[in-house]
Amino acid sequence: MTTHPSHPSSDKDAHASSVEEMFSGKSVSCPCCGGTFTPSMLQKIMDDAAHLALNKKDFRAIPTGGLGMMIDPHAHMTARTTDDYEAMAQAGIVAVIEPAFWLGQMRTNVGTFIDYFSTITGFERFRAGQFGIRHYCTIGMNPKEANNVALAEEVLAVLPRYLTKEGVVAVGEIGYDEQTPQEDKVFRAQIELAKEFDLPIMIHTPHRDKTRGTQRTMDVLEEHGFDPARCVIDHNNEETVREVLDRGYWCAFTIYPSTKMGNERLAALVQQYGAERVIVDSSCDWGVSDPLAVPKTARLMADRGISADTIHQVVYKNALAIYGLNGEMHESHWLQPQAIDQRTLYEGNSVLRGQEPKVMTRTVDANVIR
Ligand SMILES: [Zn+2]
Ligand SMILES: [Zn+2]
Repeated sequence: MTTHPSHPSSDKDAHASSVEEMFSGKSVSCPCCGGTFTPSMLQKIMDDAAHLALNKKDFRAIPTGGLGMMIDPHAHMTARTTDDYEAMAQAGIVAVIEPAFWLGQMRTNVGTFIDYFSTITGFERFRAGQFGIRHYCTIGMNPKEANNVALAEEVLAVLPRYLTKEGVVAVGEIGYDEQTPQEDKVFRAQIELAKEFDLPIMIHTPHRDKTRGTQRTMDVLEEHGFDPARCVIDHNNEETVREVLDRGYWCAFTIYPSTKMGNERLAALVQQYGAERVIVDSSCDWGVSDPLAVPKTARLMADRGISADTIHQVVYKNALAIYGLNGEMHESHWLQPQAIDQRTLYEGNSVLRGQEPKVMTRTVDANVIR
C-alpha cells in the first residue's frame, strides 16, 4: 500500500472498523498524492469534517446575554440592519465603534469619502441611538484604497476636518494591506496626524503575510515615536499575540464565524495570556460576519470557566480604557442614558417606516457581572 507521509498512521484509530465496513474492500485514493487511504485515515478526515461543521453550528447557536455590559469596538454598522442593532442591544452591547474602512469596492473620488465620513459621524450615530446603542467611530484612510495615489492625497487633506468631530475616538483603521510603498507613505502620514490631534490609533493588520506585516506596523509606529499604550493592533492571531503584547500594544481579536478564530481559540488565548490589553470584536460588516460575536465569545469564555472579571475586562473595560482616552467615549453615556425616542428625526429623516415609535429609556445595570 502507498502511504502518504503527512497522513495519520493507520494502526491507532479505534473507529477504523466502522469505516472499513462502509467501504467494504473498495479503495479510495488521496486527491493530492494518489496514494490509497486506509480506513483510519478516512475516519480521521471524517472526524475533522464533522468537527468543523460542529464548530460552525456551535458558534451560530451560542446563546447571548446575561454576562453584563459589552462594547463591540470594531463594527462596520453601516453595512448592518436595524435587527442587528436590536439583537446587539438585547445581548448586552451598550456601545459600538465603527472604524472607517473601504466598502467592498474601490471608491473613485474624494467626495464619496467625505459623505462616508459624514455618515459615520452623523446619521449612523443617530440610527444606533434609536436602538439604545452609543455609536463612536474612527476616521482614517484605509490601506487598500491608499494605493490610489491621487485619491489618497485628497483624502489625507480632508481628514483633519473629521478628526475633531464629536464621537471620533481614534485615527483608524490604518496600516498595511499589500504592504506597498504607497501604503507605507499614507500610514506614516496618518501616524503624524494622530500625534497632531492627540488621538489613539486603531491598526488594521494585513490578512496576507500577517506576522511580517504586524511586525513592520509596530516598527513604523515606534520609528514615529507613537506610544503603544495609545494604539490597538487589531485582527491578531496566535502568531502575533505574544509580540504585540510584549511590545506594549493593545491586542484585539476579530471573531468571524466559521473560521479558526471564530471557535474556542480565543477562549484558549485568554486562558494563556490573561485579559490585560486583550480586546474582542466582531468587525461585523458586509461580508460573512456576526454582530453578536462579542457576546457569543463571552459566553464561550464563561463556559470554559474563565472568570467573570476576566471576561468583563476583555469584552468591555479594555475597549473603554483605550478608546476612552480622548474623552469622547464615556461610561456615563450609557449609565445615564438619554431616552430612546424614535419620534426624533435626523435632518428630517426617521428610522421608522410607518411603525409605532418607541419612546423609552434603556437601563443597563453596571453591577451585573455574571
Ligand atoms: Zn480591518
Ligand atoms: Zn474593519
